[in-house]
Amino acid sequence: MQIYNTYSKRKEEFQPQNPPLVTFYMCGPTVYDYFHIGNARSFVMSDIFRRYLEYKGYQVKFVMNLTDVDDRIIKKSINENKTAKEVSEFYSDRFFEDIAKLNIKPATEFPKATQHISEMIEMISDLEKKGFAYNVEGNVFFNVSKFKEYGKLSGKNIDELIVGARIEVNESKKNPLDFALWKKVKEGEPSWESPWGKGRPGWHIECSAMSIKHLGETIDIHAGGNDLIFPHHENEIAQSEAACDKTFVKYWLHFGFLNIQSEKMSKSLGNFFTARDVLNKYSAESIRLFFAQTHYVGPLNFSDELLQSSAKGVEKISNLYEILQQKSALNNIESQTIDFNFTKYYERFSIAMDDDFSTPQAVAVIFDFVRDANKFITENEILPKSFYNDASEYLVNTAVNVLGILKDDFSKNKIEDVIDDKLIDILLNIRSQLKNEKNFELADMIRNELQILGIELKDGKDGTTFKRK
Ligand code: AMP
Ligand code: ZN
Repeated sequence: MQIYNTYSKRKEEFQPQNPPLVTFYMCGPTVYDYFHIGNARSFVMSDIFRRYLEYKGYQVKFVMNLTDVDDRIIKKSINENKTAKEVSEFYSDRFFEDIAKLNIKPATEFPKATQHISEMIEMISDLEKKGFAYNVEGNVFFNVSKFKEYGKLSGKNIDELIVGARIEVNESKKNPLDFALWKKVKEGEPSWESPWGKGRPGWHIECSAMSIKHLGETIDIHAGGNDLIFPHHENEIAQSEAACDKTFVKYWLHFGFLNIQSEKMSKSLGNFFTARDVLNKYSAESIRLFFAQTHYVGPLNFSDELLQSSAKGVEKISNLYEILQQKSALNNIESQTIDFNFTKYYERFSIAMDDDFSTPQAVAVIFDFVRDANKFITENEILPKSFYNDASEYLVNTAVNVLGILKDDFSKNKIEDVIDDKLIDILLNIRSQLKNEKNFELADMIRNELQILGIELKDGKDGTTFKRK
């Protein structure tokens, strides 16, 4: 399997350190508001990667952090006259609700920054002891000039970065690129005791401390949106490698932006739709298909037309799935050799996904499968039960379990409904016969008994239909 590594800027063979274990860290949300559909692109794509690695037999330890102490949370708490904790807890809960609605599998761990303050303090102390950090009156900074490889992820040298970067101006810093590891408390802000006095951690140290705690000093995959390459991930490397003296991450993966009119969707630009608003209009499956149809590295423009066409795509797959389930439930024809090569579609799916998670190709394989299976069913009146089961299983393995673009709600209940529907039809035929014979007493008895079961009959000119209540 090949993965594009932002660090080497090329596709590399994927070799986790301790297979079948894969350690995977994804930079999660800052919980100060509902997340937008741009954030959702990164969350959903990382979920698809994790599911595909599991499909391949890896045991994925997937960690997604929640940044629950941050300037934006503090600002919101002041505006809304709440505590920072109230704000972050409220939006953490909304985050969990929204990712569940997006059919994102819960991470193995969802560590929160405020629950790891002691690990962060320990790491900052270590960096200070090793000469990588300095304290200026209760503010502790990372000394970038001491980490010789600074810039190795973003591919820039320190001088270029100083000129090009928009960095916080702070007169206490020795170098404009130095970044805060510990911020001295300000009036009304949440704070914790530390060797440098009361304060709170900087954003970058949160991810280093949490990934090391939950996944070890070297992790296999670290992912996040493109906006995090610099400075966030560059700083994570500097802190972690300076503290541990080990490669921090083997494979760096970055998601392209979801744009609106070719501009990055973001809260600060105000050009965003929240994921929950979009979920009110489109199903999770349609949204996921919309994301999967573009390769994760490149940009993707948000568009209603594309989402509508994804919704149609999902319907096509669901229609086939429903037919397969119904035909399987009503079929007793034993196995026989048939001329439909499932292996080919499994192989094509894997070839696509093994090539740096090429979801657009993987989706194309599923649509080819849907087209070919529909054709096969039309052309062959009698097919064994095994065909319908194998075809359903293919869709479950790929479209349901890996991409999450098909809902597996046509399970047992619906199969039972299909069988029940047949039984009700039989009863309706008997009832119609009874009415012809003027045996209204028995005909009414059937109507009443069905009514008790929640099945309502409607007599019309063309016969009787039924509705479940
Ligand atoms: P935040 O809550 O801003 O820290 O972002 C959470 C995650 O969403 C991070 O991995 C970001 O890189 C990612 N992200 C933010 N904006 C976008 C966007 N427009 N498109 C794709 N990913 C994004
Ligand atoms: Zn992070």
